[in-house]
Order: sequence, then structure tokens, then C-alpha cells
Amino acid sequence: MLTKQDYEKYSQLAIEYLEKAGIVITEEEKKKVEVAEYELGCIDKVGLELVVYVNTEKCCAKELVLLPGQTCPEHRHPSVNGEMGKEETFRCRWGKVYLYVEGEETKDRKTAPPEGMEEYFTCKKEVVLNPGEQYTIMPNTLHWFRAGENGAIVSEFSTKSRDEYDIYTDPRIDAAGKRNI
Ligand code: ZN
Repeated sequence: MLTKQDYEKYSQLAIEYLEKAGIVITEEEKKKVEVAEYELGCIDKVGLELVVYVNTEKCCAKELVLLPGQTCPEHRHPSVNGEMGKEETFRCRWGKVYLYVEGEETKDRKTAPPEGMEEYFTCKKEVVLNPGEQYTIMPNTLHWFRAGENGAIVSEFSTKSRDEYDIYTDPRIDAAGKRNI
């Protein structure tokens, strides 16, 4: 678990990155910046910060902030109660993001999974997103992503977000994004 001080430190860093990118959020939203560290205790490697703009029955929009070197662990969004899983589009706003999806392996990939965790990062098709570039991930397909050396800001547009049903490849992370082993 992150300490309160760390939570504040990382949410403050996220706010600074958003300001640097010229993305305006309200004072209310600043108070609600979320820090995800999956309780693995290595937020500089596995973790990200986010601001949720909207999450209704139909659609969801968020800003994801990845500090330099931060990685979102591999996961997929399964069907829930007969409803299709989440479809998501990532659009890079600032910095550079390396996205890995199911499909043919990219040779000479630009980044790698966090050291020592390679077995939990199985997608090897690389999609590099620079500002203004985007990619859509279909429901129930595996994906993970990592920021470039300067960090990245990614806008996410998706169908309803039900994080509590997400399935992570790393068995230590449960659906709620909490550590379960
Ligand atoms: Zn996802």
C-alpha cells in the first residue's frame, strides 16, 4: 500500500505533467487524481496516475499519466453478465507511449517489460504512439503499455469501465487492481 504521503506525491506529479501538456483540469478534479500501484510496491516501474472525466453505462473518458518508465501491467477486459467487455481507444497527448497488444511479435522492440516480471507481459506486438496518434483495443484482448523516457499522457475513450472485472496476467494482481498474493 502506498503511504498517504506517496499518494499525494504521485498525484501532484501527475498534476504537474498535465499542466506541462497544457491539459486543464479543475481544482475538484485535482483532488480526485487516482494513483494506481497495484500494491506491488514498485510504483516507479508498475503504476500510473489517472483522472476520470466520466464513466456512465455507455461511455468512459480518462486521462492517464505515466511518469518516465512507468508501466501499466498486462490485462484484458472480459464480458460481464453477457455484456461485451470494454473497448478502449488510447490517444497519446504528450510524450511517447509504447503499447503492446496481441498479434504478430515485433522484432527489435523499443522497450521491455519491467525487469524480473517478463513472464507476466506476454503481448509482443508493439505500437508506438506519439502525440496525436491513437489505437483502439478490442474487448477481451490482452494489452499493456509503458511510457517513454520522458513519460506520457494518454487520453482514454472507452465503453463503460468496470475495473473490478479486469483480468491481469500477473496472478499477484486481482481484478480490483489490488494485490491478492
Ligand atoms: Zn485496458
